[in-house]
Amino acid sequence: MTILLALNWKMNKTPTEARAWAEDLKDKYAPVDGVELAVMAPALDLPTLAANLPAGVGYGGQDVSAQESGAYTGETSAAMLKDVGCTYAVVGHSERRDYHGETDETVAAKARQAQAHGLTPIVCVGEKLDIREKGEHVAFTLRQLAGSLSGVDAEVVVAYEPVWAIGTGKTATADDAEELAAAIRDALRGQYGAKADGIRVLYGGSVKPDNIAEICAKPNVNGALVGGASLKVADVLGMQGAL
Ligand code: PGA
Repeated sequence: MTILLALNWKMNKTPTEARAWAEDLKDKYAPVDGVELAVMAPALDLPTLAANLPAGVGYGGQDVSAQESGAYTGETSAAMLKDVGCTYAVVGHSERRDYHGETDETVAAKARQAQAHGLTPIVCVGEKLDIREKGEHVAFTLRQLAGSLSGVDAEVVVAYEPVWAIGTGKTATADDAEELAAAIRDALRGQYGAKADGIRVLYGGSVKPDNIAEICAKPNVNGALVGGASLKVADVLGMQGAL
């Protein structure tokens, strides 16, 4: 399966900065067999990425509305993302769940709406530290996954991101990542049958050039969702080169 390196810029980079980043990447980028690169950018940055990324590098939104169009001030629709050439939309990132009150139902509705417009949703799940300390991380994450994939078809990517490892420098070990990725794979088999083997399961949480190879070498981990280390082209090329 092609490894997906999904770069989550979060609320970083003005369109001017995004353009400079894309041009820098274009100067230095060479495709690597079996590795796909895609940038999850703020909506305002997407048109400049469309115009300036090297061929073969994809891009997507960091969120998408569950609604089709209309009186939803501040939202970005799946049709808008599609129109600027996105192929992905992240849904249910823990920062959206925590700071914007998104529930599993909302996340599933967003994923379905993305799919209705031909976008592949990257559905994020993962536990907080207290849940891991109680040893309930597998059950919690699988519950969240089931709710977040309700009515969602198999054209999906799942990102396991333990919240305690996001932006903290604390990476889950490769074995921790594999434990959840394998459990997620089993759950996907229950929902999608044989198609589950074609669904990419990513790990996210303080991934960087010096730990990505070990994590992505695990049999059920098919890539990474990367925040901090996505902001510098040198780090992105370092991760791509390590795979
Ligand atoms: P991080 O973020 O790589 O900075 O930990 C990952 C994410 O939140 O997607």
